[in-house]
Amino acid sequence: MPISFYNTLTRKKEKFIPISADKVTIYSCGPTVYNSPHIGNLRAFVFVDILVRYLRYRGYNVVNVMNLTDVEDKSIKASIEAKTPITQFTQKYIDLFFSDIKEMGCIPSTYYPRATDNIPEMIEIIKALTENKHTYVADGSVYFKISSFKDYGKLANLDIKTLKKNADGRLSLDEYEKEDAKDFVVWKAHSESDGEVFWESPFGKGRPGWHIECSAMSTKYLGQPIDIHTGGVDLIFPHHTNEIAQSEGATKKKFVNYWLHSEHLKVDGKKMSKSLGNFYTLNDIKKLGFSPLALRYFFVSNNYRVQINYTNDVMVSSTNSIKKLNDFVFFLKNIKSSTGDDANCIIEESREKFIQAMDDDLNSPIAFSSIFDLISKTYKINLSKESASNILDYLREINSILGIIDFSSEEGDIDLEIEQLIEKRDMARKAKDFKTADNIRDELLKRNIELIDSPQGTIFRRNK
Ligand code: AMP
Ligand code: ZN
Repeated sequence: MPISFYNTLTRKKEKFIPISADKVTIYSCGPTVYNSPHIGNLRAFVFVDILVRYLRYRGYNVVNVMNLTDVEDKSIKASIEAKTPITQFTQKYIDLFFSDIKEMGCIPSTYYPRATDNIPEMIEIIKALTENKHTYVADGSVYFKISSFKDYGKLANLDIKTLKKNADGRLSLDEYEKEDAKDFVVWKAHSESDGEVFWESPFGKGRPGWHIECSAMSTKYLGQPIDIHTGGVDLIFPHHTNEIAQSEGATKKKFVNYWLHSEHLKVDGKKMSKSLGNFYTLNDIKKLGFSPLALRYFFVSNNYRVQINYTNDVMVSSTNSIKKLNDFVFFLKNIKSSTGDDANCIIEESREKFIQAMDDDLNSPIAFSSIFDLISKTYKINLSKESASNILDYLREINSILGIIDFSSEEGDIDLEIEQLIEKRDMARKAKDFKTADNIRDELLKRNIELIDSPQGTIFRRNK
């Protein structure tokens, strides 16, 4: 079965056909670095990570870019308020972003360009747009004339007729709502409120609009068209809508083949956002006692196109699910028997279901269910060391996509005293002497030894 993705542009699931047979190019809108990333942002970044890892697993050579938006309205305002030069101000949040995505188990993108390093490329696009009669100048700023671009608003499903009625006037803000669709700014003339933030250009002293930044960085690193462009659903309008108008208006070539948008993380039923102030950072989550990988599990075990709501309860259940997976690894590592059942059928069935689910627009909840099916089937058979090791290999294979399972648990080195205590506890349990059995478990726990009751008997783990 081929891979298919839901394409926001066509509002359909489509078979994925990359431009080149073995290479896939992906551009993802990265963080706006004016304050700490919140865990909603991290959901969008983990989605990119899973997408890239899965395409690599399926044999594609992926080149991906995630930009750092280090100059736009909010970062300028915040850096002036903090009385810190903008590059110094944003650096702190760039560092935080990198440390957060690392803790979330994301593998680095191929490139992380910064907007402020790509101003000449933005100027070139604005020049091309001007040549192609898509712009005009007003009050010293350069605006994109949306009526000059035939398909303006297609990605966001904007009604062109209503648009024409309401689209008089222009906007110099970076962010605005669909109802406010108007000519948007590509180069903003310098104003006092921008302080020291400006560049010289053929259109005068000023700075780029937010949308032109991504048009420039995507084309510079990936050419045009790009296979896949990602971002959260909030970026469909105006950001991605305007990126299309600019990139296609400048080159007259298609900009992107597949637009993939990840849904929001909500909290108390509302979108988690910096402007609403209702957000958790990764640090907040860690202070609550949850691990970044539990958060990753919560994201990946849900479909990326479904809104999800953050609660502490979902974090507890994600923590438990990861523990189930890690306990299973520990169990497999401790199988010693030289004879037993073959696990190849169980592995094959699981792999087939896993790939089928992920091929279907990265349907990760179904992919996860294939792993838990494998676990319950494995616990029911008599494993040999060889089949246990085959299952471990399979888990390593799929973990190259999921990035959740911990394989570092040691093989339980057989400590005679512990073995004897386990045997004593098993006998006590058989005799329904649960008090003695519980005492032994508690005694071992004090020594950081945890007992795990598996269908194949009791095994133990040394907790760190
Ligand atoms: P920003 O730093 O605000 O530019 O956002 C970075 C990425 O996070 C973008 O792809 C946004 O669409 C995405 N994003 C913002 N808020 C949320 C949220 N609450 N849930 C999921 N993704 C979000
Ligand atoms: Zn962008």
